[in-house]
Amino acid sequence: MPDSLFTKIRKGEIPGKIIFQDELCFAIEDINPQAPIHILIIPIKEIEKVSDSTTDDVELLGHLLHTSKQIAQDYQLDNNYRLIINNGAKAGQSVFHLHIHLLGGRDLNWPPG
Ligand code: AMP
Repeated sequence: MPDSLFTKIRKGEIPGKIIFQDELCFAIEDINPQAPIHILIIPIKEIEKVSDSTTDDVELLGHLLHTSKQIAQDYQLDNNYRLIINNGAKAGQSVFHLHIHLLGGRDLNWPPG
């Protein structure tokens, strides 16, 4: 399988602003931000979408959420932010490498479209 778009960014093969990296995941600025802060938290492991994850991934999935929290603190979002995972094309997923959207820095309406 060829590397995903996000893996190519992690490897520096295509441009992107990496704002966090550890042994399990990395985070980049979204190229088309929907809020003043729009970060994507991405596992290094290329899982296409949440529904493809397995019991082997339980710890990794928790790590992604925990990392999202830490990044939100780093960006001083005052504990007001939204985490989104689009799962599948009909749910708005366009890059098939699991990622959590972290949106903040403005008031966020509900429900989303
Ligand atoms: P989703 O639609 O949930 O799969 O989210 C994919 C996200 O990746 C979108 O918010 C895009 O704006 C973002 N995106 C696409 N290409 C890039 C890129 N080259 N660098 C950073 N973010 C990107």
